[in-house]
Amino acid sequence: MESLSIFHFLLAGLAAYLLYQIYLGAKGSSDKVCKACGFVGAPDTAVRGSLWIEIVLWLCFIIPGLVYSLWRSNSRHDACRKCGSIEVIPADSPIGRKIVAESASAHGQLRK
Ligand SMILES: [Zn+2]
Repeated sequence: MESLSIFHFLLAGLAAYLLYQIYLGAKGSSDKVCKACGFVGAPDTAVRGSLWIEIVLWLCFIIPGLVYSLWRSNSRHDACRKCGSIEVIPADSPIGRKIVAESASAHGQLRK
């Protein structure tokens, strides 16, 4: 029974680590440009799947819960804070700079 409790302790630690990766990791990434609406700024982080499925899987079956958490942490992606589009690109890339310039001129910030 001693080894079983250590196994459970390790699993709890792994679950905490995965939850940290999914919900708190990689915050404050650099500015991104949204290709859909032209929004420039720090993107939202979105993950696929559902927290409730994750909790149920962890409570009922440890291993599927672990696999599901791993899949979710791998499915993390940036999403536009304004329109929710996943087509966000780095603001300092050539295409990003072009979109920033176009949206600036569209808003009348470019003096002729
Ligand atoms: Zn957008």
